[in-house]
Amino acid sequence: MIISKRKPFSEILESIEGLKKVFIVGCTLCATTCKTGGEKEVKEITEALQEEGKTVTGWNVPDPACSLLAIKRLYRSQKKEIDESDVILSLACGGGTQAIAEIIPGKRVCPGNDTLFQGEITESTLKKVKFEQKCSLCGECVLASTGSICPVTRCPKSLVNGPCGGVKNGKCEISSDLDCAWMLIYEQLKSDGRLDEMKKVRRAKDHSKNKSPQNFIV
Ligand code: SF4
Ligand code: SF4
Repeated sequence: MIISKRKPFSEILESIEGLKKVFIVGCTLCATTCKTGGEKEVKEITEALQEEGKTVTGWNVPDPACSLLAIKRLYRSQKKEIDESDVILSLACGGGTQAIAEIIPGKRVCPGNDTLFQGEITESTLKKVKFEQKCSLCGECVLASTGSICPVTRCPKSLVNGPCGGVKNGKCEISSDLDCAWMLIYEQLKSDGRLDEMKKVRRAKDHSKNKSPQNFIV
C-alpha cells in the first residue's frame, strides 16, 4: 500500500491561490485507507474550500486514481465539471496525481497529499490505523537469507551484512527507540535453526535494479 498524508491546508490553499473553481479527485484504494483521499476526506476538503470562497465544481473517487483507464472513465463521465474547473486538487498519491495530469491535459493538477512510502498496516482500530515501512522496493529481494526481515529498509544504513559496530543492547546506534534490524534477523535465524546464514557474505546490492523511472509488463 502507498502511504500518504494530507498536506497542511495552508499549503494546499497556497498552491491553488488565484484559482477559484476546483474539481477534487480522491482514490478508492490506498488514499482511502490512509484517510487522505476517501469520500469522507473529499467531502471534508470540499467544505473547507467552500469556506475559503472556492467553488467546487465536482468530485470523484476513482477506482483507483493510479489507473489511467479509471481516470479516462472519470473524465468521460464528468467532463463538464472538470472542464469548467480552474484546477484539479488530487487527494491521491503522487502516482495518482500524475495519472490525472496525464489523462486530462491542459488542466492544472495540484497534490493535496504528500506521498511517503510503501507500507504495511500494523495496527487498525476505529481510532487509528498505523502504517510501517517494511520494504523499500529495492528490486532485488534478500529476505530469503535474512529470516524475512528486510535490512535494506529496517537498518538505517541499509546494510546487507550486519550488524555494524553501533548496535547496543539490541538497539540501533541511530536511535535507541529502534531495534537493530540485524539483531532481529539474528534472533529470527536462530529460532529457525539457520544461524549459518549469518556467516554468509551477501554481495553488494545492485542499485541499478531500483533506478527510476521503471516500467514492468506482466
Ligand atoms: S530486500 Fe528489497 S524487495 Fe526485499 S523487502 Fe527489502 S527492500 Fe523490499
Ligand atoms: S545498529 Fe543495526 S540497524 Fe543500526 S545501523 Fe547498525 S546494523 Fe543497522
